[in-house]
Amino acid sequence: MTKHGPILPLWLCETCHRPWPCVPRRDELLGEHADTPLSLALYMGACLVSARTDMSWAPPEALRHRFLGWMP
Ligand SMILES: [Zn+2]
Repeated sequence: MTKHGPILPLWLCETCHRPWPCVPRRDELLGEHADTPLSLALYMGACLVSARTDMSWAPPEALRHRFLGWMP
């Protein structure tokens, strides 16, 4: 179980207190989904949809980059 889950609806890491997914969580997700990159993309896409609702004040492009831009 990760220590780097998001605090909702702010989407801050519960451990780092940085915007989620924080760097440690990104590394964990890449490891957990090393053989299933598509499921990681689907998961992060679902997170992005929720985050857009929770943070309707945030620029959509910034959220897209934050949630999807770090994946290989
Ligand atoms: Zn973290």
